[in-house]
Order: sequence, then C-alpha cells, then structure tokens
Amino acid sequence: MLKYLLFFAGLPLVPLLSAGDTGGFFVDKTTPLAALQQANERFLARYKSKFSWQDYLALIDELADTKRYKVIAGEDFSTVSAPDKVVVYFRHDMDLAPFHGVKMSREEKKRNLRGSYYVLHSARYYGTKKPGKMIRYAAMDALWKEIRDNGHEIGIHNDLFSMQLTNGIDPVKFQAAELAYYRAAGLPVTGTVCHGGVINAWGLNNTWIFSDFRKKGAYTHKGKVYKYGERSVKDFGFTYEGYRLRCNVRLSDISKYDASGLLKRLKACKPGDKVSLLLHPCHWRKDASVSGKK
Ligand SMILES: [Zn+2]
Repeated sequence: MLKYLLFFAGLPLVPLLSAGDTGGFFVDKTTPLAALQQANERFLARYKSKFSWQDYLALIDELADTKRYKVIAGEDFSTVSAPDKVVVYFRHDMDLAPFHGVKMSREEKKRNLRGSYYVLHSARYYGTKKPGKMIRYAAMDALWKEIRDNGHEIGIHNDLFSMQLTNGIDPVKFQAAELAYYRAAGLPVTGTVCHGGVINAWGLNNTWIFSDFRKKGAYTHKGKVYKYGERSVKDFGFTYEGYRLRCNVRLSDISKYDASGLLKRLKACKPGDKVSLLLHPCHWRKDASVSGKK
C-alpha cells in the first residue's frame, strides 16, 4: 500500500517498483491529453465507421421511452427486476474510439440513460506498450471521469490473456495494480467484459483467463507455456463479467444486421425480456459533426 501512497503523492513510481510487482502496470503522468486526442483521431481516420451518428440518435431515442425500457449498467443487471419492461444492459466496448465514447455518454445523459463503458487496457490510447510493460496515460482519466459523471459505469475491457501472450504482462498482478489505480483515482471499477482482438485469430479467447468460463488449459507460444482458467472473475477483483450476465436477447453492432435491423430487433423485444445491447463507439461516427438533440 505504501508504494501506491508514495506514487499517488507524486513520487516517481519506477524506482519504487520493479515490473514484476505490478505485472507491468506503470503510469505516465506527463503526456498531455491534446496529444493523445490528436493521435487517436489520426488513427481512427484509417477506419470507416459502419453507421451514422443519426442512426445512433435514433437508437437512443427509442431507448429513452421509459414506459417501455429500463436501461441499466452491467453492475446493476443481476439485481434489477422490472418484468413489465424491456430491461437493457447497455454496454459500450471502447475498442478504438474513447473520445467518441464520451460524446455518446453525453447524449445518453440527456435522455436519462445509463450504461457501462469498458476501457480497453491494451489500446494505443490507454498507454505505451514496452516489453513486459503497459505505461498508462494518466491524462486519459479525464475521459473516464466525465463518462462516470454523465451517470455511467466505467469497467475494464479485458485483454489480459492477449497482453500476457504478446506483451509479457502478468495478468493477475497487472489486474490488481490497475484496479488499485482506478480506486485511488476515485473511479472504483467492479465489472469487466472480454475483448476479442488478436488472440481470437489464434483460436484463443480472453474469456478463458477466468475459470468461470470452464476452459482451463495451457497454451504454448514461442516456447513458453501459459496456463489459463485457473482463477475466477472474483479472484481477479471483479464482481461480474458481462458475458455471464443472464440475457435472453443479445443485440450488437457487430452482428449481420445493419443499424435499422438493430433498431427493428430492439423494437420487437417484449416486456420481461432481458437484453444485452452492445455498441462500439467507433461504429457510430459517420456524420458525427451533425449536432445532436439539445
Ligand atoms: Zn473489444
């Protein structure tokens, strides 16, 4: 604990900790937010958005009908009961577009909608990757705080298995250090959802890091053996994993249907349905400069 106190008092972290103590979790307190935003915009310009901002507004306008929907965060999903409503776990996986995520969190606030925003800890905007290390950008905390202040839950978009294999981080220690950092920054995190990403192409899955998914095994990569599935979601410090929340309808912006198909499916849900609605902010950027409803 002392080392965290010293660190958060502004003393340098590196001389106090070796990489092994935090599983590779370090903090960069100097890179300014404006530089990170510019870099993210340049990066995102390479990716076309699937759907438009107007498509997104149509979707959240539908969700704003409180007679029909109860829209909640993952942390509340297993305890909230509203059999006369369509209960929606409103999930946002911020893979590539955190600044656009903030914009969405503002629009949702205007409509009294609450959801979960998951921050990808292997993303470029998250930090600088070095062998065995991820050096988190503290400046980005302003975004997570604004999203939280807009009424939403901040959670972790888990890429631990992938980071272990490709970057040499220790998943258990890294996750403990990251959660301690969020707590100390006044952003307590209780939930996580798994990211797809690079290891899916290798036939692996980030969910396997957790024993709850019953995929215990070992994977050999570049001569090293990595065991997985030995510790639970709870052991890692979380109260829930989004894929394990019980839903009878799953809708997302990465399914075969388009934005109007998604809206149609949402409208077809019935009271008593428990719906997981997954959006990726990067897919709803087209024409985003058109101003939304005030
Ligand atoms: Zn993802």
